[in-house]
Amino acid sequence: MSGGGTIDFEIRESSQRVSATEREALLANPGFGRIFTDHMVTIRYAEGKGWYDARVEARAPIPMDPATAVLHYAQEIFEGMKAYRRADGRVGFFRPDANARRFAASAQRMAMAPLPEELFLDSIRQLVGIDQEWIPTSAEGSLYLRPFQYASEVFLGVRPAREYLYCVIASPVGPYFSGGLKPVTIWVSDDYTRAAPGGTGAAKCGGNYAASLLAQAQAAENGCDQVVYLDAVERKYVDELGGMNVFFVRADGSMFTPELNGSILPGITRDSIIQLAREQGRAVEERPVTIDEWRDGARSGEIVETFACGTAAVLTPIGTVRGVDGEFKLGDGGTGPVTAGLRQSLVDIQYGRSADPYGWTSTL
Ligand SMILES: *Cc1c(COP(=O)(O)O)cnc(C)c1O
Repeated sequence: MSGGGTIDFEIRESSQRVSATEREALLANPGFGRIFTDHMVTIRYAEGKGWYDARVEARAPIPMDPATAVLHYAQEIFEGMKAYRRADGRVGFFRPDANARRFAASAQRMAMAPLPEELFLDSIRQLVGIDQEWIPTSAEGSLYLRPFQYASEVFLGVRPAREYLYCVIASPVGPYFSGGLKPVTIWVSDDYTRAAPGGTGAAKCGGNYAASLLAQAQAAENGCDQVVYLDAVERKYVDELGGMNVFFVRADGSMFTPELNGSILPGITRDSIIQLAREQGRAVEERPVTIDEWRDGARSGEIVETFACGTAAVLTPIGTVRGVDGEFKLGDGGTGPVTAGLRQSLVDIQYGRSADPYGWTSTL
């Protein structure tokens, strides 16, 4: 153990790295979450012992006893973040400390041992360091990082586990939208909700996603790309998209977004957009937003743009909103200038192309 909540990593370099030629071929069209780098990080936790056995090693299957707690009760959390290849060749990070903080908060909600934030940050640097040749150099390519933690104790009793495995894997990704910024059509779910007051909506846990898949399938059946969830109590307030937060832009340039009510995931992109927009002189309100306000505003022309935001796709324009009782469009259903502008400002900071007065970025 060393100070600052971190421990030393044992580094076992893979003896079977993918060749440079094969890697270049894979990086030419990586898609999303389909290909992976050569290594992974694992750290173990046991009650009474703390975090131990931190390793960087060849990416490989993790053998699992069939009675491992996570397989039964879903005590699992994750993060999603990116490493960027800058024009000068250096590797950039965007607000990794915010991911570390949120990961610990998710652990707390799921009654799991929290990983010290410094150890989380160390694990990211270790993996990106050893696998940095996997970071795409293409415009808007990046290395998507997936830290996660699960109950690894072999036990079927229902209580917080006493053993956890923390792991980080990395996946090179291309631009989320290959054909440029394309507005999506959103399904307003009438049948399903994502999170209720007192539930796990604000924690980044796998179970939230499992619960959303049926609604997502229903959206697809109705020709929609994503679901927008309404609040579980009154079914009238807009929460989020289940993987992205949502912003509304008025004709006068001001903006608003649902306030963090305990059911909404506190997105780091969301927080960054609020700060960027305010810096541009826009008023940004965080408050409850009803589906009626959204529909009526879009129809009257008061609300001219709506976008969703999250790490994977950055900012995605919402062109059409569809539900059981009809649909409405935002503006002409295309990509609005505020959405496009904020997206560009954010991406430029992430890739180190523009000044970062916020202290959000760092390099390896
Ligand atoms: C991760 C996530 C988001 C977006 O968060 P970012 O930090 O911006 O990537 C939004 N909603 C849910 C449910 C999420 O899991």
